[in-house]
Amino acid sequence: MKNKFNNKSKVLETILNRLDCHVYWKNKQGHYIWCNKKLANILGFKNENDIIGKTDYELFAPDLAKAVVTLDKSIFNEGKEYQTEEIGFDSENRKAIYLSIKAPLKDEFENIDGLIGISIDITSKKQSEIAKQEFLMNMAHDLRTPLSGIIGLSYIQSKEGTNAVDRQHGQWIQDAGNQLLELLNLVLEVSAAEHHYIEIIPRDSIYLEQIVEELQALMQPVMITKGLDFQIKLDTNLPLISTDRIKLKRLLLNLLGNAVKFTKEGKVSLEINLLTIEDKQAKIEILISDTGIGIPEDKLDKIFDRFYRAHPSYEAQYTGYGIGLFLVKKTVELLGGQIKVFSEEGKGSCFTATFSFPLAEKTIEPSHELSQPSLPQSKTDKRTGSMLVAEDNSLVLHAVKNILVNLGYEVTTVTEGKTALLALQSQSFDWVLLDIGLPDLEGTEVARLYRQWEQENNKPHLPIFALTAHKTAEVKKKCEIANIDYILNKPFTLKDIQIIKLILQAKE
Ligand code: ADP
Repeated sequence: MKNKFNNKSKVLETILNRLDCHVYWKNKQGHYIWCNKKLANILGFKNENDIIGKTDYELFAPDLAKAVVTLDKSIFNEGKEYQTEEIGFDSENRKAIYLSIKAPLKDEFENIDGLIGISIDITSKKQSEIAKQEFLMNMAHDLRTPLSGIIGLSYIQSKEGTNAVDRQHGQWIQDAGNQLLELLNLVLEVSAAEHHYIEIIPRDSIYLEQIVEELQALMQPVMITKGLDFQIKLDTNLPLISTDRIKLKRLLLNLLGNAVKFTKEGKVSLEINLLTIEDKQAKIEILISDTGIGIPEDKLDKIFDRFYRAHPSYEAQYTGYGIGLFLVKKTVELLGGQIKVFSEEGKGSCFTATFSFPLAEKTIEPSHELSQPSLPQSKTDKRTGSMLVAEDNSLVLHAVKNILVNLGYEVTTVTEGKTALLALQSQSFDWVLLDIGLPDLEGTEVARLYRQWEQENNKPHLPIFALTAHKTAEVKKKCEIANIDYILNKPFTLKDIQIIKLILQAKE
């Protein structure tokens, strides 16, 4: 008996015409071969067949058509599926945002001969996302301002309270305030990650060895304190790759931080393997493993969810907000990779991230680049939270850098006054921390010369913080002449960050 569903293409056509989205099919020359009714109607045609043979230039305004054709060309050239947002119009001729999924179509010889596209109107979803993001941003700002006041005043109370109890209370208010501020920042970061506000990825040419070196310097103190063995195994053939250095480093730092946090004894290891090099892409696998408490099997698929914690603090001593891995996964994906976790409760965990990094052009020999760690790296883009630290005492420098990097700042370090001045004039920083007692050129002199240059070159005021162990009247005078924003006392601690933040906020 003939089943009415035997006519598959008719059924498919009916389904496609009922869908609340645009479905279309084009050949490699850019001519439409078919589209569903919804798209035909929006374009002003009665019948979907009326579109056959037309090109985007006949259907859309020139700039819109050009954008569509450019994307289509990439699909034909790369043979990859694309998901992108496109601007178009709705049935009432209002501007609309479409989420378009376009995939290449192949003939029987596997040659690409066209593409299929599906475009969904996401305008209202986008609008509510923007409204939500705006609300969060405003709320964060409105909360942050009074919170900074609470933190600042409680800091003063913790130092200058009339008796020990008052000072202790001041300290507790400050700790709670800082915790709240941290949480607020995390919520914002999550919201930004969800809404792809951090999607612009700068491309840096990097050797992974260099990142590992930096990670090692950062992690070594805590490994030593906890008595953990930190093992590093790197492939000897790692090439120069192109990726967002800060994001990659941050995500690895996050994974290493977790490995240390959840491991009482044994080791934490970082292993990087080069899997393949093909089509100017290096496939690289990064493994971070530990011999810690592990993750129960039934919780493994949830740990990348935001705010999920497999070991909440009521069970033990582990603190956290369950956001780290959510951000790690988002960042890995943003950098074009994938992350997996293997774990056995009581034995340990292993996080494996696999990336396909584009190979970068070699401009400097690796040995040359690695042999000049004290020289500031040249940067063309200005990032929020980037700063220069000039300090000749390597122990102090290490401690300061540690604090700042752990807080997510991008730190460039120098050990001499002249290098500091050069760095300030050639790169952009959000603020600078200058030790007064630099060997070749005093910190105050660096600041004075920089201020001169700043004025001559019409540059905006750069916040300069001086660091000194002796805040004498003479030092104060010199700082005043050099228009230094604030003098901090050694040792540099987390409290100083608080002061710096308050001063920076006040200047905003
Ligand atoms: P946080 O550590 O702040 O709680 P994360 O998102 O970084 O948040 O991690 C989520 C959860 O995954 C943690 O609370 C913990 O239960 C589990 N986890 C992450 N890394 C490890 C690890 N290396 N070993 C054991 N458990 C881990």
